[in-house]
Amino acid sequence: MARSLIRQCAEWFRGLLRLFYPPACVVCDTPLVRGECFICTHCLSEFPYAEGAFSVELENNSAECYVLFHYNKQSRYRKLVYAVKYHSGKELGYYLGGLLGKRLKRVEEIDAVVPVPLHPRKKRKRGYNQSRQIAAGVAEALGKPLWDDVAVKIRHTPSQTGKNATDRRKNVENVFHLCAPERIRGCRLLVVDDVITTGATLSSFLHTLSEAGDVYLTVACLGRTEL
Ligand SMILES: [Zn+2]
Repeated sequence: MARSLIRQCAEWFRGLLRLFYPPACVVCDTPLVRGECFICTHCLSEFPYAEGAFSVELENNSAECYVLFHYNKQSRYRKLVYAVKYHSGKELGYYLGGLLGKRLKRVEEIDAVVPVPLHPRKKRKRGYNQSRQIAAGVAEALGKPLWDDVAVKIRHTPSQTGKNATDRRKNVENVFHLCAPERIRGCRLLVVDDVITTGATLSSFLHTLSEAGDVYLTVACLGRTEL
């Protein structure tokens, strides 16, 4: 009885908040209307969807990578990438993962969706792993299982910005630990990351997964930064 009263009060309070502070479009800041979620209809109609895939180079081979949208420093859609990491973008990540999953018609053959792990310290600080949120949205849209416990990040990596290719590779060596190699052996996995900048961390994670043997990897992410 008391619990339902608290719930009712919370609902009423949320309604009141929405009245004074209606949620705004993450891209253009216009207040959203009923039926819109995170992005207004106008911004969604102009969404800069990316077509096709590019290759991520690995030590011995490469993996196909699908990107949700194109953006550069001037693009107003760049805000989405930032908002997923900060501003409590937990639900936004899931929503964008859903958009990404719906466009991944060519990877329906996969066995599971695997997010790039975040270091526990960073996860504690942020409260969530943004790649896992995106991966959960992708998994839901594809109707595939989410495997978020096959590997862990065991070493915190300092920023890759300003480092040359050799230093970047050194910086991400032995960063991940594979917890369940036997589980992923022989599987087709879709690895999900938020944004690819240098690709060094992602490449290191793919290398760790491939150590299980006989693993087929494809990658999907929200965007790729122009360096
Ligand atoms: Zn908008």
